[in-house]
Amino acid sequence: MTSGPAAHGSANGVVPDEREPARLGVTLHRVRLEAAMSLRSARETIADREVILVEIVDGDGNVGWGECSALPRPGYTAEYLDGCWALLRDLLVPSVAEDPSSALERLAALPGHPMARSALVGALVDLDLRAQGRSLCSVLAEGAPTAARVASNAVIGIHDDLGELEAAVDRAVGAGHRSVKLKIDPDHAVVSLRAVRRGWPDLSLSVDANGSYPDADTAISAIAELERVGGPLGYVEQPLAADDLVGTAIVARRSASPIALDESVTSIGEAVTAVSLGAVGVLDLKPARVGGPLEAMAIGRIMTAEGIGVFCGGMMESGIGRAAALAFAAQPMCTLPTDLGPSARYHRRDVTAPFDLVDGYIEVPVGAGLGVEPDRDVLAESTVERWRFP
Ligand code: MG
Repeated sequence: MTSGPAAHGSANGVVPDEREPARLGVTLHRVRLEAAMSLRSARETIADREVILVEIVDGDGNVGWGECSALPRPGYTAEYLDGCWALLRDLLVPSVAEDPSSALERLAALPGHPMARSALVGALVDLDLRAQGRSLCSVLAEGAPTAARVASNAVIGIHDDLGELEAAVDRAVGAGHRSVKLKIDPDHAVVSLRAVRRGWPDLSLSVDANGSYPDADTAISAIAELERVGGPLGYVEQPLAADDLVGTAIVARRSASPIALDESVTSIGEAVTAVSLGAVGVLDLKPARVGGPLEAMAIGRIMTAEGIGVFCGGMMESGIGRAAALAFAAQPMCTLPTDLGPSARYHRRDVTAPFDLVDGYIEVPVGAGLGVEPDRDVLAESTVERWRFP
């Protein structure tokens, strides 16, 4: 799946099309989703969520959808939503719309900006696969069996009030989640983990520090203390800053719990570096963070070859981004529960039909392309800014 969109031949390159490539029409929708909950990490608190939906229409009227799930400000990674909007509007959309030939290759060759790129890549792939009547999940799998539903790990934000933290865990477990990941920072980690372990002695627990420990020695001591109060942890995610892979490798060698990376890996090159250094025991892999589903598969294959576990993380996406992430989460390489929750956990109303949690699992869409599309009325009501090309 390496060539251009449907108007210019098939995404898997099987059916070359010699016609002059048709131009594409592209609309950027900036949508605002009212929060059902806020999520506080060591870096920021996200409540109402804005994302960019990319809608591509080809000359035959076929439509494809993609999502940019960048956060409002740089922090999680360097990218942020206004910057992605500007890059898409000023450079990427005009380039792809005016010349769709080899668009996926040109986008993949662009240095940096994976979250902006992934929105356009996702829409091009969705456009192509819808026209072919093939689902993203099955095409990514290349014939391998995929999961019809994926186990959902609940991500619980940082709380100053332990009663509120316990109530949040209680709601998550009551909703059917069988594992929980606690967001932590150095000030809240031990007290939070102790409280949750006291209430749920057998619950599968992991933690995510979002890079909030200042150096390897501090992180090693902190993780040892967490293991002492919390028992074995599924993994400790992103203890150090995203670019401190050498430090993270030192932490990984000295910690009993597997060290997971998230924001450290935004490209295939960074994935190879992390593996080479021994800095990654588990990878939180989000197609939205690494340039889209094709790069995610490439990175996942690198991890699988090294025996490193993978799971699909979440970005508090809309249903478009959630569907794309679920297609990846269903792949055999994703060996751990996904962080993707049901839509209602994050948003009061989604732009697509909601994804529900049933017995701790979320169903993977099986329709053509992403298998979901926005409800036009909800989209119109949720859109705060719109831009069209041409
Ligand atoms: Mg994370």
